[in-house]
Amino acid sequence: MNDDIPFDKNLNLAPDRVDEVMPGVRRIMADNPGPFTFKGTLSYIVGRGRVAIVDPGPDDPRHIGTLLDAVRNETVTHIFVTHTHRDHSPAVPAIKAATGATVYAEGPHRAARPLHIGEHNPLDSSGDHDFRPDVALKDGEIITGDGWTIEAVATPGHTANHMAYAFKEKNALFVGDHVMAWATSIVAPPDGAMSDYMASLQKLAKRSETIYFPGHGPAINDAARFVNYYILHRKAREASILHRLAKGATDIPTIVRSIYIGIDPRLTGAAGLSVLAHMEDLVTRGLVETDGPPAIDGVYRLVSA
Ligand SMILES: [Zn+2]
Repeated sequence: MNDDIPFDKNLNLAPDRVDEVMPGVRRIMADNPGPFTFKGTLSYIVGRGRVAIVDPGPDDPRHIGTLLDAVRNETVTHIFVTHTHRDHSPAVPAIKAATGATVYAEGPHRAARPLHIGEHNPLDSSGDHDFRPDVALKDGEIITGDGWTIEAVATPGHTANHMAYAFKEKNALFVGDHVMAWATSIVAPPDGAMSDYMASLQKLAKRSETIYFPGHGPAINDAARFVNYYILHRKAREASILHRLAKGATDIPTIVRSIYIGIDPRLTGAAGLSVLAHMEDLVTRGLVETDGPPAIDGVYRLVSA
């Protein structure tokens, strides 16, 4: 089901190199490759002279050193954080201490919904629970710097506090982990929520940005078309789940085996959570039922019309 999206895995970028991806946008990749991070997390530098940094990245002294070296003769006035996964925000305190920049983000790390009784959060360790922005941003807020203008674009779904940042002068969007060229985004409860995620995709589909700079992988040059592929992919995945349930009640591991063919074994847990995210949405919409709140070990069946 993955091959309906025209994925692009071409990123010839060594860690710790400064790469000017377009005039006014530099990127530096952390050396944290993995099944969720592709070749590494990308930090972006916006502008020249008096600049902003988008996503300082993981708490890795080498990455922090490279980022600070890249802006050695400049002034960092703003730090923007797309979301509080541990590969995006833990470098914030070090960059803030070295530069005195003000930190902007939607808010602290939080789950999209309360935990159910007896539920433990399998994603606890992936969140940067210490993060606090200096300035909490609302959707649509405009922040003006020296030669650049950023608009905060609330995009919950991957995390509850996910924020994308539109670079108005370049018609570009720093899109974090909401949309990526190399793979689909992970939407995993309780931190993520599928209904929010779909609404955020629909919102981006109506915007005018032509290029996306994601937190991982290459830039997306045909942004509107790519978002539509992402939307179609999610709808197809939902249709596959409903199709499987039409054959009878079943559980999430069975669905993962039947629709995620050839998946990287390291991603099986994430795939299960992604199916759970769809189940939460389908139960809320009255299409699917289960006993008690939707759970990773629950049995699901179609609601008969
Ligand atoms: Zn993330």
